[in-house]
Amino acid sequence: MKVLVAVKRVVDYNIKVRPKADGSDVDIANVKMSINPFCEIAVEEAVRLKEKGIASEIVVVSMGSKQCQEQIRSALALGADRGILVEAEAELQPLAVAKCLQAIVDKEQPQLVILGKQSIDGDNNQTGQMLGALTGMGQGTFASEVVVAENAVKVTREIDGGLQTVELKLPAIVTTDLRLNEPRYATLPNIMKAKKKPLDTTTPKALGVDIAARTKTLKVEPPAERKAGVRVADVAELVEKLKNEAKVI
Ligand code: AMP
Repeated sequence: MKVLVAVKRVVDYNIKVRPKADGSDVDIANVKMSINPFCEIAVEEAVRLKEKGIASEIVVVSMGSKQCQEQIRSALALGADRGILVEAEAELQPLAVAKCLQAIVDKEQPQLVILGKQSIDGDNNQTGQMLGALTGMGQGTFASEVVVAENAVKVTREIDGGLQTVELKLPAIVTTDLRLNEPRYATLPNIMKAKKKPLDTTTPKALGVDIAARTKTLKVEPPAERKAGVRVADVAELVEKLKNEAKVI
């Protein structure tokens, strides 16, 4: 079974980002970029399916600038077999990404498409669902367990207040939640091997996809800074402040 995994290049989760001085966007000049953590979980799940003999080939796809090759190579070092870069310098919003993925799905005919539930930069949580709508494939979002059977996949989903298990006919779409697995680290020999794995490049135009933006960012601003706390001498002073300053009691 062929598995397609979508990996996004995002600012590393350890980096504290700042808005640009003009508030037009987040400043990502010279910051460390990595695979979106939920996409790393998606790659790990695909690799585990291959180790179990269920997946026969893992294809990773990333859309964006030429530099996305770095994240594709990282996914190849984790165990994916080949990569596809859909190269575009313009901003790619979730609908454009989903349409590019739809074109790749048409071409590659994977039985399972695994995406992250969310990119940690835009916090969109849209692409997997949009791909489901575009392709008509069933989707199991926020997966914490994935069990592939003959012609179906059982996905346990993390929903408010509990877990829901759905069964999807293959081909299907899964989006990963945090508890699905713990991604491995790439070993040095695998990083070296990944350099030789095939990586094809295409463009949205070649895929026949219109990537025009549907939404416009008006302003980016940091969250309000928390005021420093004050130390009170005793309970009486605390009660007095809560009553008269904070006016919460
Ligand atoms: P989002 O809808 O932006 O929160 O992203 C959800 C998931 O869609 C990500 O975890 C990726 O698996 C996939 N995705 C979004 N944007 C891209 C991209 N530019 N390249 C590859 N995959 C992407």
